Amino acid sequence: MPEPNDLHDITIIGGGPTGLFAAYYARFRGLTAKIIDSLPELGGQLTAAYPEKYIYDVAGFPKILAKDLVRNLVEQAMAYSPTVCLGERVQKLEPSGEKRLRVLTDRAEHWTRALIITTGLGMYTPRRLRGSELFEGKGLYYTVTRTDEFRGRELLIIGGGDSAVDWALHLEPVASGITLIHRRDQFRAHEENVRQLVNSTVRVKLSYKPKELRGEARVREVVIVNTKTKAEEILLVDAVLACLGFSSELGPMADWGLELEGNEAFQVNTRMETNIPGVYAAGDVAAFPGKVKLIATGFGEAVTAVNNAAHYLDPGMKVFPGYSTTIMKRRERKAQNKQITP
Ligand SMILES: Cc1cc2nc3c(=O)[nH]c(=O)nc-3n(C[C@H](O)[C@H](O)[C@H](O)COP(=O)(O)OP(=O)(O)OC[C@H]3O[C@@H](n4cnc5c(N)ncnc54)[C@H](O)[C@@H]3O)c2cc1C
Repeated sequence: MPEPNDLHDITIIGGGPTGLFAAYYARFRGLTAKIIDSLPELGGQLTAAYPEKYIYDVAGFPKILAKDLVRNLVEQAMAYSPTVCLGERVQKLEPSGEKRLRVLTDRAEHWTRALIITTGLGMYTPRRLRGSELFEGKGLYYTVTRTDEFRGRELLIIGGGDSAVDWALHLEPVASGITLIHRRDQFRAHEENVRQLVNSTVRVKLSYKPKELRGEARVREVVIVNTKTKAEEILLVDAVLACLGFSSELGPMADWGLELEGNEAFQVNTRMETNIPGVYAAGDVAAFPGKVKLIATGFGEAVTAVNNAAHYLDPGMKVFPGYSTTIMKRRERKAQNKQITP
């Protein structure tokens, strides 16, 4: 069989933190690597859901903004120039001979010798406010990508979970005023944050839900209704942030014949291998006993997946490559010798 065009050693589906680090590590091991992501930007959940939030539990960073962590991960990964395909939704996988996999997206076909699935929560979409599609891009938000968009605005936040409460606290110094409504009479958010919220300037209205968004060029007012008394009120607003959670699904990947854990993850062994030879999973989408879904653990799983994939592709390659400190020194010396030798 002729070599397919553009065959890569490792293709990584998902450009979140796990996929980005996997791409870096694959190139570090001398393998060709490609990342495919359905979103227009790299960074996974960090870019899509919380770019302006601080993360406190990534080793080596006492505190780092999600978007800054993504910037560093992208810089590290791109130093070795992997192929990056954005805006492509992976749909089909076809094992096509010895160490040959054909991956089909909604836009193209890709050939790879091994595959690492780092699709996190899968197709990650915010739950939408029914009947309010008209206001998307006109003052109705589901995520915050730039805090500055809310500067000086009168903001309504809808929701009672961690995300709604966190954003209310985070945007309090930025917005001109914030009202937070929640349809229940209790929050589902972290107690300490709820305590801070109660002591903040945010106007909290429990047992209220939105009934209608109104406005022309932009949302200007929201009719809210008390879930107990059915009494209605009109709030004048410049922006609405609906924190109703995210729905996620494996999508067509659920039908690839991979062993599933519930409906949201793929089972892997200690080498991060799935039940299909040459197909690995890491990060939030990988399931094994004792699994912890965190950025920090995803990094380690990415390294394990790449190193085992390297050994699978070429049994002469060790699973443990040695330390980067030693390897990079050796590479630098080799490059210097090449320059000196005429
Ligand atoms: C609000 C919030 C706060 C958080 N705070 C923290 C924190 O403080 N510390 C921490 O460690 N973790 C935190 N997390 C969790 C953390 O973001 C995840 O553990 C991490 O993003 C997982 O990384 P990942 O690369 O495995 O997957 P993801 O970040 O989910 O990236 C997966 C990527 O795969 C892509 N994808 C999915 N399906 C397809 C497909 N079919 N085709 C192509 N591309 C596809 C997606 O578009 C996405 O870009 C938080 C999460 C949220 C939502």
